[in-house]
Amino acid sequence: MPTKPVMITREPRGTQPPAPRPTPAWQQALASAIRDPEILLRRLGLAPDAVPGMQEADRLFRTRVPESYLARMQPGDPRDPLLLQALPRGEETHEQPGFVSDPVGDHDALAAPGLVHKYHGRVLLLTTGACAIHCRYCFRREFDYADHSPARDDWDAALAYIAGHQEIREVILSGGDPLALGDHRLARLAERLADIPHLQRLRIHTRLPVILPERVDAALLGWLGQGRLQHIMVLHANHPREFAAPADQALRRLAAAGVTLLNQAVLLAGINDDADTLAELQETGFHLGVLPYYLHQLDRTRGTAHFEVSAHRARALYRELHARLPGYLVPRLAREIPGEPGKTLLAPFPARE
Ligand SMILES: *Cc1c(COP(=O)(O)O)cnc(C)c1O
Ligand code: SF4
Repeated sequence: MPTKPVMITREPRGTQPPAPRPTPAWQQALASAIRDPEILLRRLGLAPDAVPGMQEADRLFRTRVPESYLARMQPGDPRDPLLLQALPRGEETHEQPGFVSDPVGDHDALAAPGLVHKYHGRVLLLTTGACAIHCRYCFRREFDYADHSPARDDWDAALAYIAGHQEIREVILSGGDPLALGDHRLARLAERLADIPHLQRLRIHTRLPVILPERVDAALLGWLGQGRLQHIMVLHANHPREFAAPADQALRRLAAAGVTLLNQAVLLAGINDDADTLAELQETGFHLGVLPYYLHQLDRTRGTAHFEVSAHRARALYRELHARLPGYLVPRLAREIPGEPGKTLLAPFPARE
């Protein structure tokens, strides 16, 4: 797909226009992401009509795959674990009992526009609804960001809430994908957060360094590498091949800038639900400076039932990781239960004294 021309709008004469900022390379890469599932299949040498119900599913949640992620898929393999995360399929249009539109209860926990306070000591800021990839299993595919995100850069209410709650130690930027925002806005937000004395940490949940490694440029490293707050990045990589070049270099640069890197994977049927893949995910990540954090059971969002791995199987996989890997490479097995003050850990072993 050709890159869309970037429109530069100018202020009318007489007002003081802000100095125009050049469009960063990552934004151009994002603008030229693949948005047509037929093109995605063709580019991998697969028949464009191979997947029943693909177009219908695409209409519900539009396909989006950046070139650099496509380059890490295996041509000719319709079961490629990276392709399966991004390719719409007919199963997404099937209703399944228990799979609903807001499985994690985000709608019930909004304390200010764009601010979710459901965990102790930390708040989520919903920064943008945009993402670099549209993951088919996503629990937020139906969340209406337009209704809940604050107007452009209007963080006043959210920041006032945080400033008024001494017990909040950590702000978590979430989305969508917070790194879909430009660095000028992010750096400004980080600065304003650093001005709130009781905050200690700024955490960013993002898939961008892995999906679109171009995103990790000098401007991002500039503000992440400084400031009073400790910066933590929780990556969402599900398969070891997602850490392949060029993502490996992006992660090394983040680690070198002093960002603590953690990974939270979702257990996904047909993608990473085997012990070899999961063990390799932890080892490959650690090699690049990424520590395992959570291995998450799928949130039961409508249209995602075909990705679910049973709790029984999840526990067995966890036990196998525990038997194979050093303790620091074993992620916590968790699931989200609406109304709970944190994630619920799945006990993988029978109770024993
Ligand atoms: C679980 C979760 C959090 C917060 O929970 P922690 O236990 O503090 O990590 C924030 N963002 C996302 C996307 C999560 O899944
Ligand atoms: S919020 Fe995360 S999981 Fe969902 S589509 Fe965006 S990048 Fe993918």
